Amino acid sequence: ALTAGIVGLPNVGKSTLFNAITQAGALSANYPFATIDPNVGIVEVPDSRLEKLTELVNPKKTVPTAFEFTDIAGIVKGASKGEGLGNQFLSHIRQVDAICHVVRAFEDENITHVSGQVDPITDIETINLELILADLETVSKRMDRVAKMARQKDKEAVAEYAVLEKLKDALEEETPARAVEFSSDQEKIVKGLHLLTSKPILYVANVSEDEIGEADNDRVKQIREFAAKENAEVIVVCAKIESEIAELDNEEKEEFLEDLGIEESGLDQLIKATYNLLGLATYFTAGEQEVRAWTFKEGMTAPQAAGIIHTDFERGFIRAETVSYDDLVDAGSMAVARDRGRVRLEGKEYLVKDGDVIHFRFNV
Ligand code: GDP
Repeated sequence: ALTAGIVGLPNVGKSTLFNAITQAGALSANYPFATIDPNVGIVEVPDSRLEKLTELVNPKKTVPTAFEFTDIAGIVKGASKGEGLGNQFLSHIRQVDAICHVVRAFEDENITHVSGQVDPITDIETINLELILADLETVSKRMDRVAKMARQKDKEAVAEYAVLEKLKDALEEETPARAVEFSSDQEKIVKGLHLLTSKPILYVANVSEDEIGEADNDRVKQIREFAAKENAEVIVVCAKIESEIAELDNEEKEEFLEDLGIEESGLDQLIKATYNLLGLATYFTAGEQEVRAWTFKEGMTAPQAAGIIHTDFERGFIRAETVSYDDLVDAGSMAVARDRGRVRLEGKEYLVKDGDVIHFRFNV
């Protein structure tokens, strides 16, 4: 399964945020064993469409979908001491599919900041530099390998060498690989390098309790400005409040948010943004027994998406009876949607879309 890693300097609020994540997951009836690996937190994906479908179909139960966050700081702390912590940090980042970079944007004189003052851009750059240096090493090593072939005018080697040179120049100027533009052929070469700074990233600005629902403070503004250069999203949270919210049930949570004057908790925003960042999307099954959200990777075909439910569904796939969420809600029932010709019979090549409500037909 795809996972997003939580990174950041010490004392920025990572553990507090991760506790909120695991707490939220642990309260869920669907993931009672979510804490087998203490560094992995399973979160349910908040999705109002699921509630609406439940109203329409009135099933016996409703099951949201979920995905994983990995607490990279936690892994580093608990890791054996054979290797430098720096190397371990990097090797753990290598294993995640996206990065949530937590940046301290709260003021609290009682909590020491590692470099003595709270400066979000320096903080971001401190971590990013580690990743950039690691990528530079990867790129340089690869250049040594392909140089000879490139000199002999081997076509593929020449193409790869050009990409590597461009990457090297960018990284040397502390530009992450994700911010470098390449043609689609070149993108494939870049992908093969598995660079750390190619991984999709978002920034989490951790603000104080009294700043929830307020206008951005200067630090948040700075973080937004920085992130914009990488086309990265910024999610503003107060980790401390999130860890309190995570202990509430749904009703209490709604009241609490209302008191704060916000519609959606920072954690819920983070969950949704990270889900998108990972390239994940949701389709639904909606039967009398169960209405359920399923996570698929964007670009999956109908049989592949069916395989997420059960391998038999993929192997024996015949057709996907599909209606978009909007069409179904518009129609008010499956029967009306069908009458209106909104229910399509999709075949093996169909690329599943976010919000599709699907009934798979298959042979056993
Ligand atoms: P980590 O080292 O990045 O995992 O940071 P922690 O989660 O351990 O947080 C470091 C300290 O900052 C702890 O004392 C937290 O209680 C505190 N902290 C975390 N988030 C907030 C916040 O939003 N507001 C305030 N005032 N303190 C926070």
